[in-house]
Amino acid sequence: MAAKKTTSLERMLERVETLDAPTLAGLAQRLARERGLFERVFNVLQEGLLVVDDEGEIAYANTAAHCLLGLKPDDAAAPTLWRVVPGLRAALTPAIESANPVTRELALSYPEPRTVRLHLVPFESEAGRPRRFAIILSDITRDKIDTDQRIESERVASIVLLAAGVAHELGNPLNSLTIHLQVVERRLKKLRGLDKKDAAGLAESIRICSDEVARLDGIISNFLGAIRPSQPELADIRLGEVLSEVLSFQQRELADRGITVEVEGVGAEALPFVLADRNQLKQVFFNLVKNAAEAMAPGGQLLIRAGSDDEHVTLAFADNGSGIKPEDMARLFEPYHTTKPAGHGLGMMVVQRIMRAHGGLIGVESKAGQGTVVTLQFPQKHRRVKLLR
Ligand code: ADP
Ligand code: MG
Repeated sequence: MAAKKTTSLERMLERVETLDAPTLAGLAQRLARERGLFERVFNVLQEGLLVVDDEGEIAYANTAAHCLLGLKPDDAAAPTLWRVVPGLRAALTPAIESANPVTRELALSYPEPRTVRLHLVPFESEAGRPRRFAIILSDITRDKIDTDQRIESERVASIVLLAAGVAHELGNPLNSLTIHLQVVERRLKKLRGLDKKDAAGLAESIRICSDEVARLDGIISNFLGAIRPSQPELADIRLGEVLSEVLSFQQRELADRGITVEVEGVGAEALPFVLADRNQLKQVFFNLVKNAAEAMAPGGQLLIRAGSDDEHVTLAFADNGSGIKPEDMARLFEPYHTTKPAGHGLGMMVVQRIMRAHGGLIGVESKAGQGTVVTLQFPQKHRRVKLLR
């Protein structure tokens, strides 16, 4: 069998007892330099790297591990890993006892909420020393969010597809109902010898039926409109322009409701371009303004504030309406979640879908009884690196 390759350093260490003082000093310097090199390498890694023993004592932690776990640099009384991440000891004990490698996903809450994949690898045990383990931590927060969003959008997509079929099928019977109701209405008018009161009652019933049919028709066309798959047709857009078009379209309804709208920060040159689909943006703004208006009593105020930084253009829609209860907040984007008697519960789903298709984000902050702020964040045109689905 071929002899294991040894480095000159290892050969020197093998005969360390025979070395004279200057050679030993040189060796120590060389070891320090090598250690420095490895530390620098470990410190530029994005992965957190730790060496711990079976008591959780931390022998080494690179910079990324310090950041992820919130360890203080050069902490004299270094806490054990079990103290830093409560609950970890129980999760790792079987692997530590059996000295087998193991991978776990953890949700860290300190110093900030992160999802981390932990990979534990035992080192070969050295006689008379406690067993040591390397722990590699990868921050998978972003992947986790992406996966969750994908699962969510696939779930919605499959339900929506199913429902779209049903909605489409409902169109024909509704048409037929409309036509026959009109026939009945006309015949009723021509009928002689009918008591006036009876005739009025019948006409009223027919009117109610027609209204309900129209309402069903509205629900279906709203639904089909909301789910129509469409790739955004991208163009250079100034958000301020699109917003004022939408507001002038809604002016009448806003005035009727006694609501004032104030817009800040959208002056002609103030906002950078975003790459977006004009019609889809209109739909987003329309839905948000409508929701805000519906949440407010007469005298309510909607403040739309625009801003930008190096990477994003943001628009915040702040109303002082009813706000959203914490238990409704989680369902805000669910299709058909509505708290309104005649609501369709599709507006926010559409807003979210369009924002995602633009590589943008939507955030909602709300306090029941005080109001709601919906913030849209668009990537600036030149920063636009990824288009989602
Ligand atoms: P809809 O308006 O048809 O109910 P949406 O999807 O647009 O459907 O909104 C879903 C629900 O979210 C609304 O019923 C309402 O409870 C809540 N909501 C949305 N925007 C606001 C807002 N600005 N203020 C208060 N509640 C809101
Ligand atoms: Mg709505």
